[in-house]
Amino acid sequence: MTTIEHWIDGALTSAGSTRTAPVHDPATGRRQAEVLLAEPSDVDTAVAVAGKAFESWSNSSLTQRTRVLFAFRELLVRHEDELARLVSSEHGKVVDDARGEIVRGREVVEYACGIADALKGGFSDQVSRDVDVHSFRQPLGVVAGITPFNFPVMVPSWMHPIAIATGNTFVLKPSERDPSASNFVARLYAEAGLPDGVFNVVHGDKVAVDAILDHPGIAAVSFVGSTPIAKYVHERATAAGKRVQALGGAKNHAVVLPDADLEFAANHLTAAAFGSAGQRCMAISIGVAVGDAADGLVEVLERKAREVKVGPGADPASDMGPVVTQAARERVLAAVDSAAAQGATVVVDGRSLTVEGHEDGFFVGPSLLDNLTTEMDAYREEIFGPVLGIVRVDTVDEAIALINANPYGNGTAIFTGSGEAARRFQREVKVGMIGVNVPIPVPMSYYSFGGWKDSLIGDSPIHGPEGVRFYTRAKVVTTRWPHTEAGFNFPTSS
Ligand code: NAD
Repeated sequence: MTTIEHWIDGALTSAGSTRTAPVHDPATGRRQAEVLLAEPSDVDTAVAVAGKAFESWSNSSLTQRTRVLFAFRELLVRHEDELARLVSSEHGKVVDDARGEIVRGREVVEYACGIADALKGGFSDQVSRDVDVHSFRQPLGVVAGITPFNFPVMVPSWMHPIAIATGNTFVLKPSERDPSASNFVARLYAEAGLPDGVFNVVHGDKVAVDAILDHPGIAAVSFVGSTPIAKYVHERATAAGKRVQALGGAKNHAVVLPDADLEFAANHLTAAAFGSAGQRCMAISIGVAVGDAADGLVEVLERKAREVKVGPGADPASDMGPVVTQAARERVLAAVDSAAAQGATVVVDGRSLTVEGHEDGFFVGPSLLDNLTTEMDAYREEIFGPVLGIVRVDTVDEAIALINANPYGNGTAIFTGSGEAARRFQREVKVGMIGVNVPIPVPMSYYSFGGWKDSLIGDSPIHGPEGVRFYTRAKVVTTRWPHTEAGFNFPTSS
């Protein structure tokens, strides 16, 4: 049995950890490795190492830092296939989908390669006689990232390239369910020339997370995961005086208007609901069928859902792999049970699916639920599995009101041929990321990613310009040359 160790100070180490958690192959259900779970003293060690590395890394030139990032970017390209297979083996998603998350994560590295431009300060000449003002931003120190299982490469990449490019040092606590990708990335950073101690990986559970949240040596915490944990992390880490960005869960609605191309909309909804077995924070879990669109939409969706090929992530013929754990599988099955019991119509039932030769894998087929209502648990709770619920409404106004009443506000989409309806939708809907005929509107790396309401706790979205702001703090310098007489009055411009 392989033991997955921490990566601290440029090397694998078990530090002082003795507790472990199992890492499964979701396609077979087999336990394939165990991952060490850090104790608070292991977090201390990583923070001490990162603190020491900060002294020199924060003083390295922009040129030195960007050279490392360019080299790291090349290594991510070269090792894309290997990394994608590693992700698939622990997460379960199909290899091509894993490639997609690596590409989207790499785009943040590419943005960070341009940090010299993004970090430029301001300069005002002659604000007063012989006086100039300039501003610049400096790194915070040791910063930490706590990440979910569903994008083991992309989500950490929303954090570390920008944190490192801006001169911070980083401690990553990835999900204990698919930990290996983070160690792989650590090795690529080392090969790219990143000095030891700048990027560290500490594996663990709540014990490690709590040690990070309370640690006086950590200046900022980036968190992505479920809403209850995002709230907890935000509260505890801000109470400890840290800067926090905390992104939570989602229940993303896609509205389909009667003037939409139903075949096109259904194709996109199917991929966005069942891709990665629905385990994406931007997955579409609710389709909102407006007026006459409903019957036709459900008919096409049913056909498409039945066509989804479910199988192991390593099989190129699979569209959709298993979910991540047996517990996740049971949660999805229970959600469909409860929807059926509460009156929803189960149009496609994924509960009884088995994959030949993989009977012990964590597979569950796509489910399509019609006539879902807002009181049902399957509408109110984040299922995070391959379940698409259809809510029928009569008007666009009702669709917008439905979305705005939902506690989550991560992503949403509208399918329509009307520019006017799309414009109204994007202005009125209370959601952070909006797609017009685009089901999963994940912003490019040079914008920032973040939802509204319970999908983002606090006020800091992630990566892009907001990421640069989050990982740095500003100084404003007022300079006078040559020296002139001092006055006792409060200085004003002359
Ligand atoms: P999770 O909240 O269970 O875990 C996230 C991280 O928190 C992990 O590193 C985990 O070890 C840690 N953690 C879990 N329980 C904890 C506890 N009680 N105390 C302290 N730390 C704890 O999330 P997950 O199941 O790994 O990921 C799925 C969730 O993440 C979904 O809710 C999904 O919507 C969300 N997500 C959101 C975004 C976004 O951008 N908003 C992106 C990806 C995933």
